Amino acid sequence: MSVDGTSEDPRKVVWFDIDNTLYSASTKISQAMGQRIHAYFVSLGIGEDEASELHHRYYTQYGLALRGLARHHDIDPLDFDRKCDGTLPLEEYIKPDPKLRKLFEDMDRTKVRVWALTNAYKHHANRVLKILNLTDQIEGLVYCDYEEPNFTCKPEAESYRNAMKMAKITDPSKCFFIDDSKLNVIAAKELGWGRCVHFHEVGLDAMEGGRMKKLEVDGDSGADQGIAVINDLEELRVVWPEIFSV
Ligand SMILES: [Mg+2]
Repeated sequence: MSVDGTSEDPRKVVWFDIDNTLYSASTKISQAMGQRIHAYFVSLGIGEDEASELHHRYYTQYGLALRGLARHHDIDPLDFDRKCDGTLPLEEYIKPDPKLRKLFEDMDRTKVRVWALTNAYKHHANRVLKILNLTDQIEGLVYCDYEEPNFTCKPEAESYRNAMKMAKITDPSKCFFIDDSKLNVIAAKELGWGRCVHFHEVGLDAMEGGRMKKLEVDGDSGADQGIAVINDLEELRVVWPEIFSV
């Protein structure tokens, strides 16, 4: 029983990151996003080189360029969201994937609740889920609340605790989690989240923190830290067999 006298849902909660996890980094959304973030830095009067440097530094330090911008510059996160995520022509980049939808349909909802956990704001998250035809498959969305002056985001511990609170779950071992950011997965693992998976696409030129980086198979994937590493979401059927009905 929980403190308010209601019993906690016994099912596990599967948390899906959205961007570059529910679709491949090869879709180039992250590149288009990187260009917009760069332009945003420049619009603040920051020079081209410094803009690139700060973008990368904030992404590396905070997990999200906007977190650094909100902390160190006088900006309105919602204005940033409108100009960056809000102008992405997502429909040109991603399409519904019947195989992905089937993967969601095959998760046994008597055993799991399926939620999304994203560092994006709700508008972008909902747009992506709608385009991918997954809106009805996601029971809850935990997004980065840019309306909060001091919002929290992955990989900050507070963001995972907040997610658990939103889903009314108190036992971290009941959380399953998949994200393309190794730092985000490690942070969840450190908080005791039960079954963590790093979605690690290999051989792609992907944008991270405003810089192009080739995703390689290397010792950096997280496999050595008790974290499963996959490069195709279908592999979830293998790493989380107990939550699939087929
Ligand atoms: Mg991601």
